[in-house]
Amino acid sequence: MSNTTTETTNSNNELEKLERNEFNQNLGLIVDSHCHLQEDTENIEHSLELPYEKMFLMGTTVEDWDRVNTLADRFNDKWKDTKTAYRSFGIHPWFVYKLQPPQELIGQPIDTLKPDGDKYQVDNSWYDKLRENLIRYPDAIVGEIGIDKVTKVKAIGKNDPHSQMIVLSKQIQLANEFNRVVSLHCVQLHGKLLDFFQALPLQQFPPRVALHTFGGKPSTVQQFSKMKDQKGDRFYFGLSFINLTSSKVSKLIESIPDDRLLLESDQNTPLEANESIFKVVKAISTTKKWTIKETLERTRLNALRFLAK
Ligand SMILES: [Zn+2]
Repeated sequence: MSNTTTETTNSNNELEKLERNEFNQNLGLIVDSHCHLQEDTENIEHSLELPYEKMFLMGTTVEDWDRVNTLADRFNDKWKDTKTAYRSFGIHPWFVYKLQPPQELIGQPIDTLKPDGDKYQVDNSWYDKLRENLIRYPDAIVGEIGIDKVTKVKAIGKNDPHSQMIVLSKQIQLANEFNRVVSLHCVQLHGKLLDFFQALPLQQFPPRVALHTFGGKPSTVQQFSKMKDQKGDRFYFGLSFINLTSSKVSKLIESIPDDRLLLESDQNTPLEANESIFKVVKAISTTKKWTIKETLERTRLNALRFLAK
C-alpha cells in the first residue's frame, strides 16, 4: 500500500467516525418510513428501545397485522406522545396468491396428492379486516402493497400480474376512501404503475404515496413527480440500504427532489435497523452534500409532510 492510499484510508476512517458520532447523537430525528420490525418477535424489547421519533410498521399479510398491532401498542404505550409507531396494513404482492389465486388454479386442489382436499379459491375476507383496522386506527397507513414482476406463484411457476393488480386496486381504493397514505412496493413494473396512476382520477387518489426502496430510474422519478393535474405532488421516494447495492444509486439520489426523499430501514429486525439507516443516510449526505444531521432533519420534515392530514 502506498503512503497516499494509507493516508486516504485513515482520513476516510476518521470521517466515518465523525459521521457515525453525528448520526448517533441525532437518532431521535429519525423517521423510519418503512420497516417490518414486528416480524422479529424474539427481539421485541429491542424494538421498544429504538430511539426513533417515528417508525412505520409495514404489515404484509392478515396474520402479520396482529404482530404490527402488538408492537405498535407496546411502543406507543411506552413512549406516550413522544415517539410513535404507525400501524400499516396491507397485502404484499408476494402473498396475493394466497387470497387471490391465479385464474388457472381456482378449483384445483392445493395439495395435488390430496385431490379431495382444500381447493384454491378467492378469499376476500382480508378486505373487511383491512377496513376494520383502518376504522379502528385513524392514523394507520395502507401498506405494504404493490406489484412485483419477479415474484413467482410456485404452483404455476410464474408471475401473476393480473391478481396483483386486482388486490392493489382494491387497497388503493380503500386508502382513498379512508384518506390514508400508502407505502408501495414496485419491482420492475414502474411503467405499469405509472399507467395505473395516470388513469386514476385525482379524486380517487390516496392523499400521498411513498414508492418504497424506489427501484426505478432517474427518469421515472421525473415521470411520477411531474405527473399532471397535481398528481405528481403526491409521490414520495423512499430509500433503504437495498438501494445501495446499485452502482447507479447516486444518480438516483440526485434525481429525487429534496422535499420528496424519505428514509427507511426496510429491516425486519431491530438489531440491524440503525446500521441500515446509517448506510443510506451516509449515501444521501454524500450525494446531496448535506451533513448527516441535515439529512436526518430534511427527511424527517418530508415524512411529517407525507403524513400530514
Ligand atoms: Zn417492505
